[in-house]
Amino acid sequence: MVIIMTPTADDVQLTAVQDKLVSLGFRVHRSRGVRFTILGAIGDKTGVDQRALEALPGVQSVVEISEPYKLASRTFCPEDTVVNVKRAHIGQGVTLMAGPCSVEDEDQIMRLAEVAAQNGATVLRGGAFKPRTSPYSFQGLGEAGLELLRRAADRFELAVVTEALEPDHVPLVAAYADMIQIGARNMQNYALLRKVGRSEMPVLLKRGLSATLKEWLMAAEYVLSEGNSQVVLCERGVRSFVDHCRFMLDFAAIPALRQMTHLPLIVDPSHAAGRRELVIPLALGALAVGCDGLIVEIHHDPKSAQSDGPQALLPEDLARLARQIDRNCAVSSEVG
Ligand code: PEP
Ligand code: MN
Repeated sequence: MVIIMTPTADDVQLTAVQDKLVSLGFRVHRSRGVRFTILGAIGDKTGVDQRALEALPGVQSVVEISEPYKLASRTFCPEDTVVNVKRAHIGQGVTLMAGPCSVEDEDQIMRLAEVAAQNGATVLRGGAFKPRTSPYSFQGLGEAGLELLRRAADRFELAVVTEALEPDHVPLVAAYADMIQIGARNMQNYALLRKVGRSEMPVLLKRGLSATLKEWLMAAEYVLSEGNSQVVLCERGVRSFVDHCRFMLDFAAIPALRQMTHLPLIVDPSHAAGRRELVIPLALGALAVGCDGLIVEIHHDPKSAQSDGPQALLPEDLARLARQIDRNCAVSSEVG
């Protein structure tokens, strides 16, 4: 349940309510919005007198969260969450994340970090641990890749987002990155979700290949319930019968999720498209349905890329997308 405090509730009242909830055996999560402060109480509420809680000084109302995802739900936190990752404020305006599918070598990542920064990206992506369909495909450079990523990002004042494939990777990835990516194939790897939940690192949680929105939010709940509130969801397309693209980008997920959750929502048009010529149209569609940002793959020489070359935007494509994002932002500020 959530306890909504009156706008005038002071710190003494807040702490008293919080202490009361703890004494009743709840774990309490405080979220301070612009207008209200809300206390999320997680635990067994059998035998708890809701009216007695409502009567406490400073309490406006006590609301049951009927959804199975509690901390991720809009009821728990009516205001949109913003996740700050260095200069990126994900959930405020449009955030652009760009970089190669995999970190390949120093020259490649330095060039592409520069391209990303020149085109308004604030976050550099790049895999050092790669989830590959074939065990014989390039698996990533591991720690050497993380080091290169960090150096490239620092040189161009970018934040780093990169994937941790296994729970054991988390401390290593956290030592180099600013945000940990949980890939689509790991969306329901609960041990991994718990581990990043305990890491205090912002988490980019990609949608599973065939996950419903509820399953995805339950995965986010694993991270949130460990005390990590910095979760960003990333729609990247789901499996379907079509064969004109790699995965089918679920545009409806964005407005549907907006009602269900307060978490920021970004879109990865690259993995959905699977081919370069579809990436920008999908990115523009994602902006049109109101996503908070995009994560795109880029490469200066896609034919030589170790992974996902066919879907990599060229530097000039990224520049075109960046111009479109600027135009889009200008139009939405005129409208809004
Ligand atoms: C990636 O972003 O590098 C990746 C492998 O994406 P996904 O997990 O969405 O397939
Ligand atoms: Mn990729």
